[in-house]
Amino acid sequence: MGKTKASEENGVKWPVWDKEDLEAVEAVLRSNQWWAGAPGLHAGENVWEFQKEFAAYHEAKHCIAVANGTVALEIALLALDVGMGDEVIVPDYTFVASAMAVVATNAVPIFCDIDPESLVLDVAKAERLLTPRTKAIVAVHLGGNPVDMVRLCRLAADHHLKIIEDCAHAHGSRFSGKRVGNWGHTGTFSFQASKLLTAGEGGCVICNDDELASRIYGISDCGRRSGDYFYAHYHYGSNYRMPEFQAAVLRTQLKKFPLQHEKRNRNAKYLGKRLGDIEGISVMKPTRGTEELGYYVYPFLFDPQQFKGITKAQFYASLRQAGIPTADCYPPLHTLGCFRDRALRKGIDYSGANWGGEKSDDRFFPVTSETYSRSVELAQELLLTREGYLDSVADVIEGLKD
Ligand SMILES: *Cc1c(COP(=O)(O)O)cnc(C)c1O
Repeated sequence: MGKTKASEENGVKWPVWDKEDLEAVEAVLRSNQWWAGAPGLHAGENVWEFQKEFAAYHEAKHCIAVANGTVALEIALLALDVGMGDEVIVPDYTFVASAMAVVATNAVPIFCDIDPESLVLDVAKAERLLTPRTKAIVAVHLGGNPVDMVRLCRLAADHHLKIIEDCAHAHGSRFSGKRVGNWGHTGTFSFQASKLLTAGEGGCVICNDDELASRIYGISDCGRRSGDYFYAHYHYGSNYRMPEFQAAVLRTQLKKFPLQHEKRNRNAKYLGKRLGDIEGISVMKPTRGTEELGYYVYPFLFDPQQFKGITKAQFYASLRQAGIPTADCYPPLHTLGCFRDRALRKGIDYSGANWGGEKSDDRFFPVTSETYSRSVELAQELLLTREGYLDSVADVIEGLKD
Protein backbone atom coordinates (compact mmCIF):
# COMPACT_ATOMS: atom_id res chain seq x y z
CA MET A 1 0.00 0.00 0.00
CA GLY A 2 1.79 3.09 -1.20
CA LYS A 3 0.87 6.03 0.96
CA THR A 4 2.22 9.40 0.02
CA LYS A 5 2.30 12.71 1.82
CA ALA A 6 -1.09 13.74 0.43
CA SER A 7 -2.91 11.08 2.43
CA GLU A 8 -0.90 11.73 5.59
CA GLU A 9 -1.73 15.42 5.44
CA ASN A 10 -5.37 14.43 5.41
CA GLY A 11 -5.04 12.47 8.60
CA VAL A 12 -5.13 9.07 6.94
CA LYS A 13 -3.33 6.71 9.24
CA TRP A 14 -4.17 3.37 10.74
CA PRO A 15 -4.20 2.27 13.48
CA VAL A 16 -5.22 5.32 15.46
CA TRP A 17 -3.97 5.36 19.04
CA ASP A 18 -3.34 7.76 21.90
CA LYS A 19 -2.08 8.08 25.46
CA GLU A 20 -4.88 5.88 26.79
CA ASP A 21 -3.65 2.90 24.73
CA LEU A 22 -0.09 3.54 25.81
CA GLU A 23 -1.08 3.59 29.48
CA ALA A 24 -3.10 0.40 29.09
CA VAL A 25 -0.09 -1.47 27.72
CA GLU A 26 2.17 -0.04 30.41
CA ALA A 27 -0.31 -1.07 33.10
CA VAL A 28 -0.22 -4.69 31.91
CA LEU A 29 3.57 -4.64 31.85
CA ARG A 30 3.76 -3.25 35.39
CA SER A 31 1.10 -5.62 36.73
CA ASN A 32 3.32 -8.62 35.95
CA GLN A 33 0.15 -10.45 34.85
CA TRP A 34 0.94 -10.97 31.18
CA TRP A 35 -1.53 -13.72 30.52
CA ALA A 36 -5.19 -14.08 31.38
CA GLY A 37 -5.07 -17.36 33.27
CA ALA A 38 -8.31 -19.32 33.31
CA PRO A 39 -11.91 -18.39 34.14
CA GLY A 40 -12.23 -18.57 37.90
CA LEU A 41 -8.45 -18.46 38.13
CA HIS A 42 -7.81 -15.03 36.73
CA ALA A 43 -4.24 -13.91 36.41
CA GLY A 44 -4.87 -10.78 34.32
CA GLU A 45 -8.21 -9.00 34.01
CA ASN A 46 -8.09 -7.60 30.50
CA VAL A 47 -9.09 -10.66 28.47
CA TRP A 48 -12.08 -11.38 30.73
CA GLU A 49 -13.20 -7.76 30.72
CA PHE A 50 -12.71 -7.37 26.96
CA GLN A 51 -14.86 -10.44 26.34
CA LYS A 52 -17.68 -8.87 28.36
CA GLU A 53 -17.27 -5.48 26.69
CA PHE A 54 -17.15 -6.82 23.13
CA ALA A 55 -20.11 -9.14 23.75
CA ALA A 56 -22.06 -6.16 25.05
CA TYR A 57 -21.13 -4.01 22.06
CA HIS A 58 -22.00 -6.72 19.56
CA GLU A 59 -25.11 -7.65 21.52
CA ALA A 60 -24.12 -11.29 22.01
CA LYS A 61 -24.39 -13.39 25.15
CA HIS A 62 -20.87 -14.82 24.94
CA CYS A 63 -17.52 -13.76 23.54
CA ILE A 64 -14.38 -15.91 23.64
CA ALA A 65 -11.19 -14.03 22.80
CA VAL A 66 -8.55 -15.94 20.84
CA ALA A 67 -5.22 -15.50 19.07
CA ASN A 68 -6.49 -14.40 15.64
CA GLY A 69 -9.41 -14.46 13.23
CA THR A 70 -8.25 -17.58 11.39
CA VAL A 71 -8.23 -19.77 14.49
CA ALA A 72 -11.51 -18.16 15.58
CA LEU A 73 -13.03 -19.76 12.46
CA GLU A 74 -11.30 -23.09 13.11
CA ILE A 75 -12.59 -23.17 16.68
CA ALA A 76 -16.12 -22.24 15.60
CA LEU A 77 -16.15 -25.01 12.99
CA LEU A 78 -14.74 -27.59 15.40
CA ALA A 79 -17.21 -26.59 18.13
CA LEU A 80 -20.04 -27.13 15.63
CA ASP A 81 -18.66 -30.59 14.93
CA VAL A 82 -17.40 -29.94 11.41
CA GLY A 83 -14.72 -32.42 10.36
CA MET A 84 -13.58 -35.22 8.07
CA GLY A 85 -15.97 -35.95 5.20
CA ASP A 86 -17.99 -32.77 5.63
CA GLU A 87 -18.45 -30.10 2.99
CA VAL A 88 -18.62 -26.44 3.97
CA ILE A 89 -19.82 -23.75 1.57
CA VAL A 90 -17.59 -20.66 1.47
CA PRO A 91 -17.90 -17.64 -0.84
CA ASP A 92 -15.37 -17.61 -3.65
CA TYR A 93 -14.62 -13.93 -2.98
CA THR A 94 -13.00 -13.65 0.46
CA PHE A 95 -9.67 -13.80 2.25
CA VAL A 96 -8.10 -17.26 2.08
CA ALA A 97 -8.59 -17.83 5.84
CA SER A 98 -12.35 -18.31 5.40
CA ALA A 99 -11.56 -21.49 3.46
CA MET A 100 -8.26 -22.50 5.08
CA ALA A 101 -10.01 -22.80 8.44
CA VAL A 102 -12.32 -25.38 6.84
CA VAL A 103 -9.29 -27.22 5.44
CA ALA A 104 -7.73 -27.22 8.93
CA THR A 105 -10.69 -29.21 10.27
CA ASN A 106 -10.16 -31.83 7.50
CA ALA A 107 -13.46 -30.85 5.91
CA VAL A 108 -13.67 -29.69 2.28
CA PRO A 109 -14.59 -26.11 1.36
CA ILE A 110 -16.97 -25.70 -1.58
CA PHE A 111 -16.75 -22.33 -3.31
CA CYS A 112 -19.88 -20.35 -4.05
CA ASP A 113 -20.24 -17.48 -6.49
CA ILE A 114 -21.28 -14.05 -5.22
CA ASP A 115 -24.07 -11.59 -5.87
CA PRO A 116 -22.89 -9.00 -8.45
CA GLU A 117 -24.28 -6.00 -6.54
CA SER A 118 -23.70 -6.75 -2.87
CA LEU A 119 -20.50 -8.74 -3.62
CA VAL A 120 -21.33 -11.27 -0.87
CA LEU A 121 -22.46 -14.90 -0.97
CA ASP A 122 -25.33 -15.53 -3.40
CA VAL A 123 -27.73 -17.51 -1.23
CA ALA A 124 -29.65 -18.95 -4.21
CA LYS A 125 -26.40 -20.29 -5.68
CA ALA A 126 -25.38 -21.70 -2.29
CA GLU A 127 -28.58 -23.72 -2.25
CA ARG A 128 -27.61 -25.33 -5.57
CA LEU A 129 -24.31 -26.48 -4.07
CA LEU A 130 -25.91 -28.48 -1.26
CA THR A 131 -25.16 -32.19 -1.15
CA PRO A 132 -25.86 -34.81 1.52
CA ARG A 133 -22.37 -34.01 2.86
CA THR A 134 -22.95 -30.29 3.34
CA LYS A 135 -22.57 -29.53 7.02
CA ALA A 136 -22.10 -25.79 7.28
CA ILE A 137 -21.91 -22.45 5.50
CA VAL A 138 -19.36 -19.73 6.23
CA ALA A 139 -21.16 -16.43 5.60
CA VAL A 140 -18.54 -13.74 4.99
CA HIS A 141 -19.79 -10.16 5.37
CA LEU A 142 -17.32 -8.79 2.84
CA GLY A 143 -16.49 -5.11 3.24
CA GLY A 144 -18.89 -5.17 6.20
CA ASN A 145 -21.84 -5.83 3.87
CA PRO A 146 -24.07 -8.47 5.46
CA VAL A 147 -25.04 -11.62 3.63
CA ASP A 148 -28.84 -11.83 3.46
CA MET A 149 -29.04 -13.62 6.81
CA VAL A 150 -32.83 -13.95 6.78
CA ARG A 151 -32.68 -16.06 3.63
CA LEU A 152 -29.53 -17.89 4.65
CA CYS A 153 -30.89 -18.85 8.08
CA ARG A 154 -34.07 -20.13 6.47
CA LEU A 155 -32.01 -22.29 4.11
CA ALA A 156 -29.90 -23.53 7.02
CA ALA A 157 -32.96 -24.44 9.08
CA ASP A 158 -34.51 -26.34 6.16
CA HIS A 159 -31.36 -28.41 5.66
CA HIS A 160 -30.02 -28.64 9.23
CA LEU A 161 -26.89 -26.70 8.40
CA LYS A 162 -24.61 -24.82 10.76
CA ILE A 163 -23.93 -21.17 10.03
CA ILE A 164 -20.64 -19.50 10.91
CA GLU A 165 -20.55 -15.78 10.22
CA ASP A 166 -17.07 -14.56 9.31
CA CYS A 167 -17.31 -11.00 10.61
CA ALA A 168 -13.63 -10.13 10.05
CA HIS A 169 -14.76 -7.12 7.96
CA ALA A 170 -17.93 -6.33 9.79
CA HIS A 171 -17.37 -5.04 13.33
CA GLY A 172 -20.46 -2.98 14.07
CA SER A 173 -22.51 -4.09 11.04
CA ARG A 174 -26.21 -4.45 11.73
CA PHE A 175 -28.76 -6.28 9.62
CA SER A 176 -32.53 -6.31 10.17
CA GLY A 177 -32.36 -5.37 13.82
CA LYS A 178 -29.44 -7.57 14.88
CA ARG A 179 -25.71 -7.04 14.85
CA VAL A 180 -23.95 -9.52 12.59
CA GLY A 181 -22.50 -12.58 14.31
CA ASN A 182 -25.79 -13.23 16.12
CA TRP A 183 -27.71 -14.65 13.15
CA GLY A 184 -25.73 -17.82 12.73
CA HIS A 185 -24.68 -20.36 15.35
CA THR A 186 -21.49 -18.38 15.87
CA GLY A 187 -19.79 -15.25 14.58
CA THR A 188 -16.02 -14.83 14.33
CA PHE A 189 -13.95 -11.64 14.28
CA SER A 190 -10.37 -10.67 13.50
CA PHE A 191 -8.40 -7.95 15.27
CA GLN A 192 -5.44 -8.11 12.89
CA ALA A 193 -3.63 -4.84 12.14
CA SER A 194 -5.70 -3.78 9.12
CA LYS A 195 -9.10 -4.58 10.63
CA LEU A 196 -11.64 -2.12 12.01
CA LEU A 197 -10.80 -2.93 15.62
CA THR A 198 -7.23 -4.02 16.16
CA ALA A 199 -4.44 -4.90 18.54
CA GLY A 200 -2.08 -5.99 15.75
CA GLU A 201 -3.33 -9.58 16.00
CA GLY A 202 -6.27 -11.16 17.76
CA GLY A 203 -9.71 -12.59 17.21
CA CYS A 204 -12.85 -13.76 18.95
CA VAL A 205 -15.90 -15.94 18.61
CA ILE A 206 -19.34 -14.79 19.70
CA CYS A 207 -22.42 -16.93 20.28
CA ASN A 208 -25.66 -16.98 22.22
CA ASP A 209 -25.78 -20.60 23.38
CA ASP A 210 -24.29 -21.51 26.79
CA GLU A 211 -23.26 -25.04 25.89
CA LEU A 212 -21.70 -24.00 22.61
CA ALA A 213 -19.82 -21.19 24.37
CA SER A 214 -18.36 -23.69 26.80
CA ARG A 215 -17.19 -25.96 23.94
CA ILE A 216 -15.66 -22.98 22.16
CA TYR A 217 -13.83 -22.00 25.32
CA GLY A 218 -12.56 -25.56 25.82
CA ILE A 219 -11.25 -25.85 22.27
CA SER A 220 -9.43 -22.54 22.66
CA ASP A 221 -7.91 -23.56 25.99
CA CYS A 222 -6.57 -27.14 25.95
CA GLY A 223 -9.93 -28.89 26.37
CA ARG A 224 -10.52 -27.31 29.77
CA ARG A 225 -13.87 -26.61 31.37
CA SER A 226 -14.63 -23.23 32.75
CA GLY A 227 -14.19 -23.21 36.56
CA ASP A 228 -12.84 -26.77 36.68
CA TYR A 229 -9.44 -28.08 37.81
CA PHE A 230 -6.70 -26.56 35.66
CA TYR A 231 -5.20 -29.93 34.69
CA ALA A 232 -8.51 -31.59 33.79
CA HIS A 233 -8.88 -31.84 30.00
CA TYR A 234 -12.17 -33.14 28.63
CA HIS A 235 -11.99 -32.96 24.86
CA TYR A 236 -9.78 -31.79 22.00
CA GLY A 237 -8.42 -28.34 22.56
CA SER A 238 -5.34 -26.38 21.72
CA ASN A 239 -3.84 -23.17 22.97
CA TYR A 240 -5.53 -20.40 21.01
CA ARG A 241 -5.58 -17.93 23.91
CA MET A 242 -5.31 -14.17 23.61
CA PRO A 243 -2.56 -12.49 25.67
CA GLU A 244 -3.28 -9.69 28.16
CA PHE A 245 -1.41 -7.04 26.15
CA GLN A 246 -3.70 -7.58 23.17
CA ALA A 247 -6.82 -7.44 25.27
CA ALA A 248 -5.68 -4.26 27.03
CA VAL A 249 -5.25 -2.49 23.67
CA LEU A 250 -8.54 -3.87 22.36
CA ARG A 251 -10.35 -2.46 25.40
CA THR A 252 -9.08 1.08 24.84
CA GLN A 253 -9.59 0.74 21.08
CA LEU A 254 -13.16 -0.47 21.61
CA LYS A 255 -13.92 2.76 23.46
CA LYS A 256 -12.95 4.72 20.34
CA PHE A 257 -14.72 2.35 17.97
CA PRO A 258 -18.36 3.59 18.01
CA LEU A 259 -17.41 7.11 16.91
CA GLN A 260 -15.11 5.77 14.17
CA HIS A 261 -17.86 3.42 13.02
CA GLU A 262 -20.36 6.26 12.85
CA LYS A 263 -17.93 8.43 10.90
CA ARG A 264 -17.14 5.63 8.43
CA ASN A 265 -20.86 5.10 7.81
CA ARG A 266 -21.49 8.80 7.31
CA ASN A 267 -18.51 9.24 5.01
CA ALA A 268 -19.31 6.08 3.04
CA LYS A 269 -22.76 7.45 2.33
CA TYR A 270 -21.24 10.73 1.16
CA LEU A 271 -18.60 9.04 -1.00
CA GLY A 272 -21.23 6.69 -2.42
CA LYS A 273 -23.27 9.65 -3.56
CA ARG A 274 -20.27 11.29 -5.22
CA LEU A 275 -19.03 8.11 -6.91
CA GLY A 276 -22.55 7.04 -7.83
CA ASP A 277 -22.83 10.16 -9.98
CA ILE A 278 -19.87 9.10 -12.09
CA GLU A 279 -20.93 7.13 -15.12
CA GLY A 280 -19.05 3.85 -15.27
CA ILE A 281 -18.66 3.51 -11.47
CA SER A 282 -20.88 1.27 -9.37
CA VAL A 283 -20.32 1.05 -5.64
CA MET A 284 -20.98 -2.03 -3.51
CA LYS A 285 -24.71 -2.06 -2.81
CA PRO A 286 -25.67 -2.71 0.82
CA THR A 287 -27.79 -5.85 1.13
CA ARG A 288 -31.47 -4.99 1.64
CA GLY A 289 -32.09 -4.89 5.40
CA THR A 290 -28.65 -3.47 6.24
CA GLU A 291 -28.79 -0.83 8.97
CA GLU A 292 -25.10 -0.22 9.71
CA LEU A 293 -22.02 -1.28 7.81
CA GLY A 294 -18.53 -1.95 9.14
CA TYR A 295 -16.76 -0.93 5.89
CA TYR A 296 -13.45 -2.73 6.36
CA VAL A 297 -12.86 -1.72 2.75
CA TYR A 298 -14.87 0.40 0.36
CA PRO A 299 -15.34 -1.61 -2.85
CA PHE A 300 -16.55 -0.32 -6.21
CA LEU A 301 -16.46 -1.54 -9.80
CA PHE A 302 -15.38 0.47 -12.81
CA ASP A 303 -16.40 -0.03 -16.41
CA PRO A 304 -13.15 0.12 -18.43
CA GLN A 305 -15.03 1.33 -21.52
CA GLN A 306 -16.02 4.49 -19.67
CA PHE A 307 -12.41 4.94 -18.55
CA LYS A 308 -10.51 5.02 -21.84
CA GLY A 309 -10.02 1.26 -21.64
CA ILE A 310 -7.53 1.46 -18.73
CA THR A 311 -6.65 -1.73 -16.89
CA LYS A 312 -7.33 -2.37 -13.26
CA ALA A 313 -3.59 -2.11 -12.54
CA GLN A 314 -3.51 1.32 -14.16
CA PHE A 315 -6.56 2.39 -12.19
CA TYR A 316 -4.88 1.36 -8.93
CA ALA A 317 -1.58 2.98 -9.92
CA SER A 318 -3.33 6.31 -10.55
CA LEU A 319 -5.06 6.23 -7.16
CA ARG A 320 -1.79 5.42 -5.40
CA GLN A 321 0.00 8.15 -7.25
CA ALA A 322 -2.58 10.60 -5.94
CA GLY A 323 -1.87 9.34 -2.41
CA ILE A 324 -5.28 7.71 -1.97
CA PRO A 325 -5.10 4.70 0.39
CA THR A 326 -6.23 1.57 -1.43
CA ALA A 327 -6.58 -2.09 -0.50
CA ASP A 328 -5.83 -4.96 -2.87
CA CYS A 329 -8.86 -7.05 -3.77
CA TYR A 330 -8.71 -10.75 -2.88
CA PRO A 331 -8.09 -12.97 -5.89
CA PRO A 332 -11.04 -15.41 -6.06
CA LEU A 333 -10.28 -18.53 -4.01
CA HIS A 334 -10.70 -20.87 -6.99
CA THR A 335 -7.67 -19.21 -8.64
CA LEU A 336 -5.28 -19.64 -5.71
CA GLY A 337 -2.42 -22.10 -6.20
CA CYS A 338 -3.19 -24.02 -3.01
CA PHE A 339 -6.67 -24.92 -4.26
CA ARG A 340 -5.90 -25.19 -7.99
CA ASP A 341 -3.07 -27.63 -7.22
CA ARG A 342 -4.86 -29.19 -4.22
CA ALA A 343 -1.74 -28.52 -2.15
CA LEU A 344 -3.54 -28.94 1.15
CA ARG A 345 -3.94 -31.57 3.90
CA LYS A 346 -2.44 -35.01 3.62
CA GLY A 347 -4.84 -37.93 3.34
CA ILE A 348 -7.95 -35.91 2.49
CA ASP A 349 -9.89 -36.60 -0.70
CA TYR A 350 -10.50 -33.32 -2.50
CA SER A 351 -11.73 -34.90 -5.75
CA GLY A 352 -15.36 -34.09 -4.91
CA ALA A 353 -14.63 -30.38 -4.50
CA ASN A 354 -15.83 -27.86 -7.10
CA TRP A 355 -12.26 -26.54 -7.57
CA GLY A 356 -8.84 -27.92 -8.43
CA GLY A 357 -7.30 -28.48 -11.87
CA GLU A 358 -9.77 -27.77 -14.65
CA LYS A 359 -12.57 -27.18 -12.18
CA SER A 360 -10.75 -24.00 -11.16
CA ASP A 361 -11.57 -22.40 -14.51
CA ASP A 362 -13.04 -18.90 -14.23
CA ARG A 363 -16.10 -19.85 -16.25
CA PHE A 364 -17.43 -21.89 -13.31
CA PHE A 365 -17.34 -18.79 -11.10
CA PRO A 366 -18.58 -16.14 -13.52
CA VAL A 367 -19.55 -13.39 -11.09
CA THR A 368 -16.46 -13.45 -8.87
CA SER A 369 -14.22 -13.66 -11.92
CA GLU A 370 -15.90 -10.75 -13.65
CA THR A 371 -16.06 -8.72 -10.43
CA TYR A 372 -12.40 -9.28 -9.64
CA SER A 373 -11.36 -8.13 -13.10
CA ARG A 374 -12.71 -4.62 -12.52
CA SER A 375 -13.10 -4.14 -8.78
CA VAL A 376 -11.16 -1.59 -6.80
CA GLU A 377 -11.09 -1.19 -3.04
CA LEU A 378 -10.36 1.89 -0.99
CA ALA A 379 -8.90 1.31 2.48
CA GLN A 380 -11.14 1.84 5.51
CA GLU A 381 -9.01 4.64 6.98
CA LEU A 382 -10.02 6.80 4.02
CA LEU A 383 -13.49 6.91 5.55
CA LEU A 384 -12.04 8.49 8.70
CA THR A 385 -10.96 11.63 6.82
CA ARG A 386 -12.87 14.83 6.05
CA GLU A 387 -15.63 15.13 3.47
CA GLY A 388 -13.44 17.63 1.66
CA TYR A 389 -10.82 14.97 1.11
CA LEU A 390 -13.45 12.53 -0.10
CA ASP A 391 -14.47 15.13 -2.67
CA SER A 392 -10.95 15.22 -4.00
CA VAL A 393 -10.89 11.39 -4.11
CA ALA A 394 -14.06 11.46 -6.23
CA ASP A 395 -12.47 14.16 -8.41
CA VAL A 396 -9.36 12.04 -8.95
CA ILE A 397 -11.52 9.06 -9.97
CA GLU A 398 -13.63 11.17 -12.30
CA GLY A 399 -10.44 12.64 -13.74
CA LEU A 400 -9.33 9.19 -14.90
CA LYS A 401 -11.99 9.43 -17.63
CA ASP A 402 -10.27 12.42 -19.32
C1 LIG B 1 -8.56 -11.05 8.15
C2 LIG B 1 -9.55 -12.08 7.81
C3 LIG B 1 -9.61 -13.33 8.45
C4 LIG B 1 -8.51 -13.84 9.34
O1 LIG B 1 -8.14 -13.06 10.35
P1 LIG B 1 -6.65 -13.11 10.96
O2 LIG B 1 -6.84 -12.42 12.27
O3 LIG B 1 -5.78 -12.34 10.03
O4 LIG B 1 -6.25 -14.51 11.12
C5 LIG B 1 -10.65 -14.18 8.16
N1 LIG B 1 -11.58 -13.86 7.26
C6 LIG B 1 -11.56 -12.69 6.60
C7 LIG B 1 -12.65 -12.39 5.63
C8 LIG B 1 -10.53 -11.77 6.84
O5 LIG B 1 -10.50 -10.64 6.16
